[in-house]
Amino acid sequence: MKKIKFGLLLALFLSLVFVSAALAQGETLNLSLSRDFGYGGFGGDIQGTFSLHASGPSTLTRVEFFIDKTKIGEVDKAPFNLQFVTDNYPLGAHSFSAVGYTSDGEELSSPKIDRTFVSASAGTQAGLGFVIPILVIVFAVVILAAVVPLLSGRKTVNLAPGTPRQYILGGTVCPKCGRPFAFSIFSLRLVVARLERCPYCGRWGFVRGVSLGELRAAEQAEVQVARGQVPETPAEEKLKKELDDSKYRDA
Ligand SMILES: [Zn+2]
Repeated sequence: MKKIKFGLLLALFLSLVFVSAALAQGETLNLSLSRDFGYGGFGGDIQGTFSLHASGPSTLTRVEFFIDKTKIGEVDKAPFNLQFVTDNYPLGAHSFSAVGYTSDGEELSSPKIDRTFVSASAGTQAGLGFVIPILVIVFAVVILAAVVPLLSGRKTVNLAPGTPRQYILGGTVCPKCGRPFAFSIFSLRLVVARLERCPYCGRWGFVRGVSLGELRAAEQAEVQVARGQVPETPAEEKLKKELDDSKYRDA
């Protein structure tokens, strides 16, 4: 009696082990799709050369690949990959699946992958539909960057050196020509710097505000620079005058 009970328990236990082992082995076959060349857009639209990849237990020996109900190929060695070209199949919705066979006689089914095959031109159009807006934005930015300095004028201000300025919004010393100028209301303000155009040399640059003391010092420095250049101007004018005079003489 006891022996029979034990035998039943053992049978039950063994069957449980067997069932759980079978469940553990009954892993599904994994299936994935990758694009090798072509278009893989939104909404499951694809066009071009793609590959199906199947993976499963180590006992997997052979995988058959299907598009809808049609077997498109089989692979009997890992890696279980199969390449295909969408143009070889009718346009429209298709379902991929794979069936794997293990060395211990199991048959594993993969989940299905649904995609829509589109024509090459549709794929290109959809791709362009995505790329064109980006190109438009890029061109707009490039054009704006070129036009804004033109609109604000290439003209420069001719202010006598050392003239005291009003620095209502603060100011800076131009890193290019060294002359101080006040910030404009319209300058592009970034966290620590401003995009400003120097009114004297006309060049753009990212500048930081400096103290009023430094600005006044820069005004004085202008006078120093101007003094250094003073002898040049009359000499040039003299030469010009001489040239003009010579014209009259010849005439
Ligand atoms: Zn400047």
